[in-house]
Amino acid sequence: MLNQETAKKWLELFIEQLLENKAYLSELDTAIGDGDHGNNLARGANALAEVLQTKEFETLTDLLKTTGMTLVSKVGGASGPLLGSAFISMAKASQDSDDLATVLEAGLEGIQKRGKAAAGEKTMVDEWIPVVDAVKANKLTVALIDEILEKTKNMKATKGRASYLGDRSIGHIDPGAMSSNYLFKTMIEAGVY
Ligand code: ADP
Ligand code: MG
Ligand code: MG
Repeated sequence: MLNQETAKKWLELFIEQLLENKAYLSELDTAIGDGDHGNNLARGANALAEVLQTKEFETLTDLLKTTGMTLVSKVGGASGPLLGSAFISMAKASQDSDDLATVLEAGLEGIQKRGKAAAGEKTMVDEWIPVVDAVKANKLTVALIDEILEKTKNMKATKGRASYLGDRSIGHIDPGAMSSNYLFKTMIEAGVY
């Protein structure tokens, strides 16, 4: 169930995962990018942790919006504005709906509006699109979230920094899909789904 309480738990668990896996995320980005994805997100995670500890939130919308704005301003790189946009769009959608599929779909739209990536271009949207579909169909599982991630391995990047590598981007997990994999697994763990 998506509400202010479960969403806060979700964000806390997501922060934990990002900090625990900072080195791994940057390692994935070293293979096909500039090696900073884990560091970028850890900066955002630390800033968000501070905000969650100090600020009182009136509503779910308020919580999601502040999260998005913190990520946009602190993460940097391509992923900051993209993930931040997702949360800002989810905040907007949460004003009218507490249906998780509806809210996540708005998040995906926010990412695509900003980044223009479609399915199969080896980006975080290759994690988001199938996950949103699975939430809609009520069949999301942790195993499925991992299966979706694995599929980014054999994709050739045509968006973002990894696209400079062309065919050499094939054979590596996309770092942004990995961080979104943590986002969705912690969503289950927190009882949001
Ligand atoms: P940068 O590439 O600027 O160093 P990061 O390393 O933090 O930024 O993030 C890289 C990740 O961002 C990629 O692995 C990919 O998932 C995601 N990404 C890059 N460009 C796009 C885009 N146009 N749309 C969606 N996701 C993207
Ligand atoms: Mg990078
Ligand atoms: Mg960078």
